[in-house]
Amino acid sequence: MAQPTSPPGPPGRLGFASPPKVEPLEVIVVGAGIGGLTTATALRRSGNNVTIFEQSRFSAEIGAAIHVGYLHNELKHLTLAEEREGRPCILKLSSKVEHIDPETAEITLGNGEKHKGDLIAGADGIYSLVRETIFDPKKPKPTGEAAYRFILDVATVTEDPECLSCDMRDGRCRVIIAPDRRVVVYPCRNFELLNFVCIQPQERQEDGARGYRLELPIVGGKLGRNVSRFLTKGLEMLKKAEDVRCWQLLKRDRLQSWVKGCVCLIGDAAHPMLPHQGQGGGQAIEDGASLGALFPLGTPAAHVPAVLKLF
Ligand SMILES: Cc1cc2nc3c(=O)[nH]c(=O)nc-3n(C[C@H](O)[C@H](O)[C@H](O)COP(=O)(O)OP(=O)(O)OC[C@H]3O[C@@H](n4cnc5c(N)ncnc54)[C@H](O)[C@@H]3O)c2cc1C
Repeated sequence: MAQPTSPPGPPGRLGFASPPKVEPLEVIVVGAGIGGLTTATALRRSGNNVTIFEQSRFSAEIGAAIHVGYLHNELKHLTLAEEREGRPCILKLSSKVEHIDPETAEITLGNGEKHKGDLIAGADGIYSLVRETIFDPKKPKPTGEAAYRFILDVATVTEDPECLSCDMRDGRCRVIIAPDRRVVVYPCRNFELLNFVCIQPQERQEDGARGYRLELPIVGGKLGRNVSRFLTKGLEMLKKAEDVRCWQLLKRDRLQSWVKGCVCLIGDAAHPMLPHQGQGGGQAIEDGASLGALFPLGTPAAHVPAVLKLF
């Protein structure tokens, strides 16, 4: 009959071998957008220690055009809350990562500080430094389209007889489609607000001059006038726009792999998507959840590159 074998390790006081010590991985997440926060939460739940480095102070809107303000706040809570599973993550704001070494899993911040982890998740969005440093130095390219966005109080639309033809009173999403552009209108914040996203050829060169996250107001009426050339339904609503902001739409080449050594890419850094199907945020969430499942507590640091190949 086979005899039970003792686990490896030095003999304890009674002569039995002590079980190997279970150590959490030290995880570094670059970027605290939807992808970074989901990744951090998933890896925290698995029992690992997570530190997130975010370049901004979170004063600007995160994650274009999904009701992301709320989603982002909730994700931030899951990441930092004491009462949740695992150890709360550490979130370091105003911490821009400027260099990254895939072999040693070490990052360097703008202020010269260095941090070393066992695993690095680059969730730093469409302009990803992690991607350009380690995977592909090419910059994102403009598609020629831009998303112009604004928000209106529901009452502004539903109580104006001129807007009745658009009939937004049922609280459902509307998509108005024309050959080279579309307008998507949907309610948010319990139907207090209507969110408008107008995707169309980029109006002006300077709308995209500094990129995706730059929010450049354009003259509200101008959007309506341009749209009127081809679209009549919905025009009354568009004329009400006051504070219109622009996101230039960008694309990147497809990567052969999203992992290298101890580093992987998450969300827009790995696979930016155009917003036509509204799925980039959802995909970033799936990436983060998958990473959490791959690294349960006790994964040895030396196994990280091999496990990452499954990602
Ligand atoms: C107009 C528009 C509409 C959209 N609509 C939808 C929708 O309806 N549904 C949907 O699912 N998706 C939608 N998307 C896509 C969605 O917004 C993105 O896919 C999603 O936000 C990507 O999340 P992310 O965490 O990968 O990147 P981001 O949200 O871009 O987060 C990256 C974070 O990294 C930080 N960062 C960057 N560089 C550094 C650095 N060097 N050091 C430290 N921090 C850094 C940034 O400050 C930022 O906080 C839309 C996109 C656009 C443009």
